[in-house]
Amino acid sequence: MGGDADRVAHTLFLVALMGGVMVLSELLRSLSTWVRTAQSELVQDYVAGLVHERSIAADLAFYEWPEFYDHLHRARQDAGQRPTALLEGTGSLAQNAITLIAMAAVLVPLDPWLPLALVGSMVPALYVVLHHGLRQYHWRLRTTADERRSWYYDWLLTDGETAAELRLFGLGKHFAAAYQAVRLRLRSERVRLVRDQSISEVVAGAFALLVSAAATAWMVWKAAQGLVSLGDLAFFYQAFNQGQKLGRSLLDNVNRVYQSLLFLGNLFEFFDLQPKVVDPEEPELIRKGAAPEIRFRNVTFRYPGSDRVALRDFALTVPAGQIAAIVGPNGAGKSTVIKLLCRLYDPDSGSVEVDGTDVRNLRQEELRQQTSVLFQQPVHYNSTVSENIALGDLTAQPSAAEIEAAARASGAAELIDRLPEGYDTLLGKWFVSGTELSVGEWQRIALARAFLRQAPLILLDEPTSAMDSWAEADWIKRFRSLAAGRTVIIITHRFTTAMRADVIHVMAEGQIDESGRHDELVALGGRYAQSWEGQMSS
Ligand code: ATP
Repeated sequence: MGGDADRVAHTLFLVALMGGVMVLSELLRSLSTWVRTAQSELVQDYVAGLVHERSIAADLAFYEWPEFYDHLHRARQDAGQRPTALLEGTGSLAQNAITLIAMAAVLVPLDPWLPLALVGSMVPALYVVLHHGLRQYHWRLRTTADERRSWYYDWLLTDGETAAELRLFGLGKHFAAAYQAVRLRLRSERVRLVRDQSISEVVAGAFALLVSAAATAWMVWKAAQGLVSLGDLAFFYQAFNQGQKLGRSLLDNVNRVYQSLLFLGNLFEFFDLQPKVVDPEEPELIRKGAAPEIRFRNVTFRYPGSDRVALRDFALTVPAGQIAAIVGPNGAGKSTVIKLLCRLYDPDSGSVEVDGTDVRNLRQEELRQQTSVLFQQPVHYNSTVSENIALGDLTAQPSAAEIEAAARASGAAELIDRLPEGYDTLLGKWFVSGTELSVGEWQRIALARAFLRQAPLILLDEPTSAMDSWAEADWIKRFRSLAAGRTVIIITHRFTTAMRADVIHVMAEGQIDESGRHDELVALGGRYAQSWEGQMSS
């Protein structure tokens, strides 16, 4: 009786143990899913952070270079999955390799040739993995530009910015067809690659099967000769088949790791792109707070990759505290002057100086801290009005009063008061309950952003281009008092804005053509006078 009770207890113990193991394995499975998800999200965000860091640090010149976009495109795509695939692939690869070695080792006592046959049967498959992995990688490099083109068409077809023009000119079908044409090319090439790979895999698989059949025949022959037992034969069959299955899974992981390494190499190439516009090792100190003198000395500059000279032997002096306007035809090089002054690019020859110091000898951050800029096409940040203005100088943590003062200086205060939630109104249409502004209204918000920074150097590229003439007159009146004690360069196509400056420089073909006050230039009878008279008579 006692023996039965013991057996029952023992059986119960075993059942409980089995139950425990099952529960534990379930727990481990859930835990591993949880850890894998957390790890993959973390790695993904970390690598995306690195990509962002690099894109912010890259020279503006990189953005002129289509290959940079190809690199960026691949980096953004690979950042998501490749590092995680590499981690997981390496883990599984190690696991497969250890099990395979163990499997090969148990075959040795049966016949030392068997492990060799097992490994040898996988050689063609390994070749297929490496060869086609490399082919796929090169194909991806070659077709990145096409892939980006398909994304571009997709953006054209789905973005709000382009929607009106697409409808008006009836361009939807045209771009949809262009998208399909690029995708068809990419799709058929990809399908061809996968087809070739599948054919090679079938051949490699047939070879593995042949080796397996030969090894089985050899073992059957040995069994017939009485050299191995039937049990050994059954054991061989199980182990060899299992080994080949493991081999296939190992090759899948080799493929994952190999592809990930190739693509990560590409990601590191992107991280290796070194900016050329860098801070000097021993920067000179910039004079803070006081209006600086600006001087361009014989500056010649071509945009990277362009044959056309944007500035040719360009010379300009803007004394401290002066408001200088630059006018001139499209493409004369006006915006380029501002870009070089902010050191977004370095000139090919000559120098740009702030208070007699070459901007290349200053720390970029300090130079930019002393400068308020309004670009021709300011960014429309889809955030609140306050934030849109505060972004002009986040380091200063501007107060509500400072933000309102900047809005008043730019002529944006009244339009903001009319908005549903004033300074808390969310702008843009990216997010729910956003309010869209007109181009001129956005321009005034951008001006307020530029004015928030109490910088002694103000650079404005077409500040009044989208303003109505009443708003322009009102703004100019205000601007003169705001600009007091600062050096200002205003680029404008409007005579009504230019004529309020202390001096007007007329630019043509990358050089200053004539300079003077409005009445002096009109009296001179040159390019400015012709344009002025043309506008007056029209
Ligand atoms: P607009 O009045 O039309 O704004 P602009 O006088 O400001 O013209 P810039 O933008 O300075 O002219 O351009 C000067 C020249 O440099 C032009 O010939 C233009 O085509 C060229 N250019 C401008 N930006 C780039 C760029 N990013 N890459 C290559 N060339 C450029």
